[in-house]
Amino acid sequence: MTQAAIVKKPVTKITFPHHDFLSIEDLNADDITALLDLAEHYVVQNRRKSQTTAMLRGIVVVNVFLENSTGTRLSFEMAAKRLGAEVLNLGVEGSSIYKGESFTDIIRTVGAMLPDLVVVRHKKNGAALEAARLLDCPVLSGGDGTREHPTQALADALTLRRHFGRLEGLKVAICGDIMHSRVAHSNITLLQKMGANVVCAGPQELLPALPCATSDMTEALKDADAVMALRIQKERMERTLSLTDAEYFHAFGIDEDKMKHASPAAVVLHPGPMNRGVEIDNALADDDRRSLIRTQIEMGVAVRMACLDLLTRNSRR
Ligand code: ASP
Repeated sequence: MTQAAIVKKPVTKITFPHHDFLSIEDLNADDITALLDLAEHYVVQNRRKSQTTAMLRGIVVVNVFLENSTGTRLSFEMAAKRLGAEVLNLGVEGSSIYKGESFTDIIRTVGAMLPDLVVVRHKKNGAALEAARLLDCPVLSGGDGTREHPTQALADALTLRRHFGRLEGLKVAICGDIMHSRVAHSNITLLQKMGANVVCAGPQELLPALPCATSDMTEALKDADAVMALRIQKERMERTLSLTDAEYFHAFGIDEDKMKHASPAAVVLHPGPMNRGVEIDNALADDDRRSLIRTQIEMGVAVRMACLDLLTRNSRR
């Protein structure tokens, strides 16, 4: 694997004029490049033996995850701890949501404790923005309804940029449940802002009306440099999918056969959690020559460190 990306600017000079980070839509190409460049610095730092720094000593980060997560919550926690911050976690189970407490009241309660930064994940579109309006401290989205997963898109972009040395001009095919996927939405926005050619493919019933969407997998995968498989988000669907898992895998699952349409050096990505044998072939997911899935997870920690670093710069002054 090539490690082509180079940190061009000294990390202290990076400008990131945002109080919160809720959406890729709010960033321009310079902001995205600044975040990715800073994240490169954390990739290097995290690969050293003693990775933890005291940079965020005295900072308390609260993860409010009112929707389940394996990777993202752990990744935010790892990122904050690597920078020396204290982390508090509130999940669906530990909250009083079941007692009828509203999201607004949960956020107000967290805010009254004067945290330094809050990460919010919620199934409702716009929940992170609502939290940002209620809180004085910076808010970071950890996944917002069906619309935004900005740190996942950054992790994916960093993974691709390190592998190919660029984002501009890459053909990226995003395949699966595009309609309900916040990862797809954030990735499309980010990759297009950075000059990549994005094509989205999946069954008609899971495709939003986008100019880059097609139900023709061969057309989507043709000469693609990168193919991203997405999970069918059953928890967000109003109607059951008309295809069985086996039918879905045959028509839309990413396997070696379909990868033959892509560029010979094409790579596969998946944001997790994976349903092996449904949206991605089991062996392909673990094939180190093709799969960048483990790298995406590693890059996730680095980009979240970059976000925490940038958003806490004012409170550390
Ligand atoms: N982990 C990603 C998300 O939170 C993708 C998924 O759940 O399928 O959106």
